[in-house]
Amino acid sequence: MIITKKKNSQELMENIKNYKSFFLIGCSECATLCGTGGEEQVKELSETLKAEGKEVTGGVVVKTGCQVLGTKKELKAHKDAIDRAECILVLSCGAGTQTAVELFEDKPVYPTNDSMFLGNMTRFQMFDERCSLCGKCILDKTGGICPITTCPKGLLNGPCGGMKDGHCEVSEEIPCAWVRIYERMKRIDRLQEFCETTIEAKDWSQAQKPRTLYAREKKQK
Ligand code: SF4
Ligand code: SF4
Repeated sequence: MIITKKKNSQELMENIKNYKSFFLIGCSECATLCGTGGEEQVKELSETLKAEGKEVTGGVVVKTGCQVLGTKKELKAHKDAIDRAECILVLSCGAGTQTAVELFEDKPVYPTNDSMFLGNMTRFQMFDERCSLCGKCILDKTGGICPITTCPKGLLNGPCGGMKDGHCEVSEEIPCAWVRIYERMKRIDRLQEFCETTIEAKDWSQAQKPRTLYAREKKQK
């Protein structure tokens, strides 16, 4: 899931100070789980704006904010309220915000959140970064633990000389990714393979931005 955190409220208010009326769009997926874009947050922001003397013409939590066509369909029911708003506020990740930009070409759209990373929820509203979307996954070679993301140096054949007692030299709070990989490979009986494998330098062209993927296979003629 995409991990988001709320923007500092002063920063948000400064960004939108020139507008008087707003329509709010939350997202029922990641932003709801992060506590940044669910029903509760839409209601909270609506009350904050009203307390600041602003008008809120309406608000909705769409199913999946990064799904452009689905969001367009859902927002049709709110056309009047959207038309009456000077500005759209999107309580989701940057992808959801850009869905609104695509749908409302002539209206200002502002994000209320900062998008942080792709992460796993390991406890209630506690998130860990596990994947950097590098475009060519090497988890098959590392026992399923990503060194590109969980080693601060992104080393492909670690550990580095700074590892101490299983901890990372960058921060004692971080377990060394390569010690974790070693322990994991040992546990699943792949230690020999681990010792014999050298991971080649990464082809970062797979991560060149912006990326587009058309997942449907083209029909054969
Ligand atoms: S290698 Fe790591 S960063 Fe790349 S896709 Fe796999 S989990 Fe994600
Ligand atoms: S100590 Fe381990 S996790 Fe930290 S930078 Fe070195 S190899 Fe990476």
